[in-house]
Order: sequence, then C-alpha cells, then structure tokens
Amino acid sequence: MSLGEFDLIDRYFRPLGRDGAHAADGVPLGIGDDAALLVVEPGCQLVAAIDTLVEGRHFLRGCDPRSIGHRALAVNLSDIAAMGGRPDWYLLALTLPESVASFLEPFAAGLGALGGRHGVRLVGGDTTAGPLTVSVQLLGQVPAGLALRRSGGRPGDRVFVSGTTGDAAAGLALERGAGAGGLDGSADPVSDAWLRRRFLFPEPRVALGQALRGLATACIDVSDGLATDAAKLAASSGCGLRLEAASLPLSSALRSLCTPVQALDFALSGGDDYELCFAIPPDCLDRLPAALAAGGVEATCIGELTAAPGLVLLRDGHPTPAPRPGHDHFRGG
Ligand SMILES: [Mg+2]
Repeated sequence: MSLGEFDLIDRYFRPLGRDGAHAADGVPLGIGDDAALLVVEPGCQLVAAIDTLVEGRHFLRGCDPRSIGHRALAVNLSDIAAMGGRPDWYLLALTLPESVASFLEPFAAGLGALGGRHGVRLVGGDTTAGPLTVSVQLLGQVPAGLALRRSGGRPGDRVFVSGTTGDAAAGLALERGAGAGGLDGSADPVSDAWLRRRFLFPEPRVALGQALRGLATACIDVSDGLATDAAKLAASSGCGLRLEAASLPLSSALRSLCTPVQALDFALSGGDDYELCFAIPPDCLDRLPAALAAGGVEATCIGELTAAPGLVLLRDGHPTPAPRPGHDHFRGG
C-alpha cells in the first residue's frame, strides 16, 4: 500500500527527529514547521556537507534499503569527520518511485541506527515521487579555527590512513558477482561477508576526525580511492606525495580474496572506504597514539608529503607509474 507524504513522514521520519545527543539544547524547532531552527554553540563554526546517492549509480538496483539509509548518512558523516567536526543535525530529500513500507521501514532503520550511534538528529526534509534518489545534508560544529582542511600539510609531514583500504571496492565487486564484471567469492564466506559489509555499511571515522584537531596539518576522507584522495590532499597543501606500496594497510580478507596485484589496485584506486587520510608533522608523531586511541581505530603511515609536486608510488624502493585515477564503478569514470 502506498502512503501519503504526511503519513510517511509521521510514521518513518518523525521518530528520527527525536534522536540525538544534543536534542535538548540545539534544536528549538525541528520537523513539522516550514524550516528548522538550530542554535550553534558559542565559539563554534557550522560545518556543512551534502551528498546524493542515485540508484544504479551509487548503489546497485535492488540493494538492501537498510544499506541505502546507512550509506546516505555515512558518506556525510565521513565528510564532517574529515573536517574534524562534530555532526549534529541532518536534512533528508528523498525521491521515491513508490512510497511503500517494504522500502521505507528498513531505509529509516538504517538511517536511524547509524544516526543514533553518532548522536545526530533529523531536523527536516522533503519527499517526492520519481527515480530512487537520496540526498542527505549534514550539519555539524567545530570550534572556530580548529577545523581540519586539506591545505595545511608541509613537505616532510608523514601521511597516514586509518583502518584498511580497498575492502569496499572488493565488497562491491562481490556484490556485483563475476557475471557482471565483479568477483566470485573466495573459499572463505565469513571474510567475503566482511568485505561486502565494508561496502554496504561503512563506518565513518567521526571520533578520529575530532581527535586529530590541533594535531593533523591536513585531512581528507577516502571516498574516491586512496591514491586520488591522498594526491588531492597533497596538491591542496602545495606539496607532492611519495607513497610506499608495501606500506598500504590491506585486510586479511582482501588478501585472501585477491591476487597481490588486484589487492594493491583495490587499495589504491577502489572507492567508498570512508577512512581518513591525514598528515602529521614528524615532531608531533608521539601524540598520534593518543589520538588513535580516542578515535578507536588504527592508522598506518603510507608515505610522506614532498616539496616536489606530483605523486610518486614506490614499489621495492623504485618509483613506478602512478595508479589509474580512483573511481566509483558506477560513475563510469
Ligand atoms: Mg570527502
């Protein structure tokens, strides 16, 4: 049965407006009026991000709606994390072919579960009929002057990446299957399921981003592929980048699914990891373990910013051609 817009908002989205750690003090007026009223804390700046997911382009047709809800928020949480911000409020623009409970219930559950864990609250939105498209705008706060940017790195800064990379691209390849240009599963269904989960339910590094404030000189989230995103950080900082292929953090699941060459390709060029890539000056490296402990994730040094521009990839100590640009397989780039 198809629901009217007001029923749909009431049933599935109004409950998400009551979530949020800061519900009492930052939202004088949330869902239900023409617009929301929000209060930014004294001494803070508003940090804003928006991302749109389109069926067939950013997620597979027939994808679990719970994953679509999760990812629509996760990609924005990752952008706010990369700025060192604390996420607070989000707005949702949902375009649906048909407003049916079989989609809306798991979609809202995916959104609500991740939002609840990060203390963010839905404060408004819009629904309309059309091809399945989800836009989320996320608003957060950061103490004035302390936001992380891509542009503050200096030659000699060590470049780190959190977690492991390439998993999400491998997970997507498994979701597509070998018949559709993806991959067949390995002999280990548990590690394959873990890789799929890395694509379907990425964990944005929100606590790490905040822990890196005042420590990292530059930061970016890895959405388009590690080599591409790390090179963007370097270029924004007016630097080049030297990456050590042997240092890239590869999960055991990725290594067991792929050949070493394939694994390196996924790790450098696969998208959708939503890890943080950041630069730390050599004389601040002793402060990194505390930040990683606060962020609840490991990080690996993968190279260094250089005075000479451009990306150099070292394999066994020898420069090799830079990898192909990272891309989301659906973007056709
Ligand atoms: Mg980003």
